[in-house]
Amino acid sequence: MNYTKSQQLFSRAQQSIPGGVNSPVRAFRSVGGTPVFIKSAKGAHLFDEDGNQFIDYINSWGPMILGHAYEPVVKAIQEKAAGSTSFGAPTELEIDMAELIKSMAPNIDLIRMVSSGTEACMSAIRLARGYTGRNKFIKFEGCYHGHADCFLVKAGSGLATLNIQTVPGITAGVAKDTLTAPYNDLQTVEKLVEEHNGDIAAIIIEPVAGNMGCIPPQEAFLEGLRRICDEENIVFIVDEVMTGFRLAAGGAQEKLNINADLVTYGKVIGGGLPVGAFGGKKEIMEHIAPLGNVYQAGTLSGNPIAMIAGFTMLSELKNNPSIYQELEEKGAYLEKGLNEILSQKSLPHRVNRFGSMISIFFCDNEVTSLESASKTDTKIFNQFFHHLLENGVYLPPSAYESWFFSNALSFEDLDKTFDVIRRF
Ligand SMILES: *Cc1c(COP(=O)(O)O)cnc(C)c1O
Repeated sequence: MNYTKSQQLFSRAQQSIPGGVNSPVRAFRSVGGTPVFIKSAKGAHLFDEDGNQFIDYINSWGPMILGHAYEPVVKAIQEKAAGSTSFGAPTELEIDMAELIKSMAPNIDLIRMVSSGTEACMSAIRLARGYTGRNKFIKFEGCYHGHADCFLVKAGSGLATLNIQTVPGITAGVAKDTLTAPYNDLQTVEKLVEEHNGDIAAIIIEPVAGNMGCIPPQEAFLEGLRRICDEENIVFIVDEVMTGFRLAAGGAQEKLNINADLVTYGKVIGGGLPVGAFGGKKEIMEHIAPLGNVYQAGTLSGNPIAMIAGFTMLSELKNNPSIYQELEEKGAYLEKGLNEILSQKSLPHRVNRFGSMISIFFCDNEVTSLESASKTDTKIFNQFFHHLLENGVYLPPSAYESWFFSNALSFEDLDKTFDVIRRF
């Protein structure tokens, strides 16, 4: 493939944008080579500036679950924009959005819209602290909850990809209140809770981890966390930024039958526009300003264009429950094909999948935590990545990211993907 224009654009970008990108993993640092500059996309296919075409397994890192340029969403945005793009005052559409979310996801009495997943998770932690009067919280190694200071401790793909261990700019005072445990390790959580008895405000988790590759929770793990939170009056925050509206209309909470005290959203909820949300039980959410004195605000929160994009996307998902069945069938087909082809090649591998989240680890061991994920052979992954890219298949440019596919992906696209992998 010819990447002349992308190469020129990348050189130009680096003169004005740090590393040429506005979010680090896009820079292809770990896989090497030049990031592909995208011009447009439709359905399951991306088109770059050089005229190359790719089958998309990123889908904007999750949001485009119905495929790119999904017509009802595009049309709704166009119509709404004609009535102005922001007011900084309440609108009926915000109520429609909140009601729609409540009708789809469990355990939400009140919900507040924000503009990113980072904001949602950061605000949920602040609220849990304000509500409990405690400072510390527990997160899991390899889980990512956005780039707020308190989360940048053992925080998954972006940092794993760039091999960043400790983050300059995060003060020791902040870091000391973030306790970490390995994913799927209930015992360590129990130990931490005992050691920091009465000091822990919250446990936050990706119910299916997607930021160290795809790692599903093991049997009884999430239930165990729920029990600990109940016993110790700890706020259980389920970070559904990735899983929300993707694994099911009601997210991981519905799919895995878990009860969150607070839940955070991003990605799919905005239909491709910058949206996040956090919500949950009334008793806790009432502590947010203006009801309570835990402060949280946003000039563009509930923005009409973002709301109509999200509202239209979520309505489609709610009204067409077969989408999730179709995504599951495509996921199962992809998983089976990957396993068959890589086994024929005698390449050690593990394919982890949950619904439409999937990833390959090039290693010999089960992958259940960041530690086991980090045994993956990143050199093979990087060759694999470039082989696929060169042949029109666009994977996340990191061995530590989940792939996301959309329902626009066809079985023909999947078969094409298999043909390319057979030639690896
Ligand atoms: C992407 C992600 C975030 C951060 O969302 P942004 O919109 O990128 O700020 C938080 N939590 C999880 C689980 C995510 O996957």
